[in-house]
Amino acid sequence: MHKPTHIQGVALEVLAKEFGTPLYLYDGEKIVQQIQALQTAFAAVPLRIKYATKALSSLSVLSLIRNAGAELDAVSLEEVKLGLLAGSTAAEIIYTPSGVSFAEIQEAVQIGVMVNVDSLPLLEKFGQTYGSTVPVCIRINPHILAGGNLKISTGHKDSKFGISIEQLPQILELVQQYQISVVGLHLHTGSDIYDAAVFLKGGNVLFEAAMQFPDLRFLDFGGGFKVAYSSEDKATDIPELGRIVSAAFQEFCKTYGRQLELWIEPGKFLVSEAGYLLVQATVVKETPTLNFVGVDSGLNHLIRPMMYDAYHDIYNLSNREGATENYTVVGYICETDTLASQRQLHTVKEGDVLVIQNAGAYGFTMSSNYNARLRPAEVLLWKGKAHLIRKREEFEDLIRNQELIQW
Ligand SMILES: *Cc1c(COP(=O)(O)O)cnc(C)c1O
Repeated sequence: MHKPTHIQGVALEVLAKEFGTPLYLYDGEKIVQQIQALQTAFAAVPLRIKYATKALSSLSVLSLIRNAGAELDAVSLEEVKLGLLAGSTAAEIIYTPSGVSFAEIQEAVQIGVMVNVDSLPLLEKFGQTYGSTVPVCIRINPHILAGGNLKISTGHKDSKFGISIEQLPQILELVQQYQISVVGLHLHTGSDIYDAAVFLKGGNVLFEAAMQFPDLRFLDFGGGFKVAYSSEDKATDIPELGRIVSAAFQEFCKTYGRQLELWIEPGKFLVSEAGYLLVQATVVKETPTLNFVGVDSGLNHLIRPMMYDAYHDIYNLSNREGATENYTVVGYICETDTLASQRQLHTVKEGDVLVIQNAGAYGFTMSSNYNARLRPAEVLLWKGKAHLIRKREEFEDLIRNQELIQW
């Protein structure tokens, strides 16, 4: 993979010095390019990109994404509110919660976002409460196993998400009974799906179900487009995906009798490759079996390697030449905390800055204060300028909501 020393003409070494490590760094131009790649690939259909906010929800990133023409998919009311604060309108946001209280649903309706209904009991309550007055989307579980990892697969038959396609008769019964205004059907089969045929398989499930709903305005194919995490790794062929899915969609619209909108919900695809986590080597420690590099970060900042066995490329920014050695890069958390196992890196010494790639998606948003560690700062590069969009946490942040009772 490309291991940049500079992004938008700015030296990463300089940023590491100026803002300190650990540091989350985002290439705003890369994010915009990814949006444009989707807009180009799906130019033949009326497309709406609903960025999956949970991948990276920092306000300035949400604002940038909106400026580039994308809207939002939110999975919590807090994400909805972040989106609104960053400049999105309620009408641009689809709210796709999983098993939340009806009070949350009512607040979402009050705010004016489109609710994506995830269960039959919720559909029934929605019908009882709103009848035909509030348009709604229904999340279908198509019973498709997709993606590389069951933990990130959401559309298989045993997944908690959506209403099973086998329960379509019950859905139709409730829709009929309460005159519910169903304007969209949705599916999201999981993450890391590179094969366009899988999206089409999901699409075909939606197309067939859609014939039962005469008032549709859109079909939402969800996200899950795969990006490459290493040179050998596969990525979704976006132009091919656009071609295949658009053609099938236009064909369906003819059968349906009306032109609908095609919605997609990329998370990882927009922000993964744009993100870099800069960390500093604090110790180089040889054991009889392994050569460890300890860094000033860990699973509290990037949990994907430990949680999903995710592979993230890593390189030594401070030493770009000469001999390489085999290192296992570990975090400072008092758990097994491996960021990168047995990688060839140019010789690492204490103080070197290492760069972890593909850190934009599910990096900062999944970070925690475990071990009472502080979260890193975030910097967004835009037009050759580095903007601090979130300052590093301080000790004060750890105790802010606590009440100390000294017994
Ligand atoms: C997480 C999520 C996405 C985005 O998934 P990616 O793999 O990041 O593209 C899209 N839609 C819904 C409903 C999600 O929960």
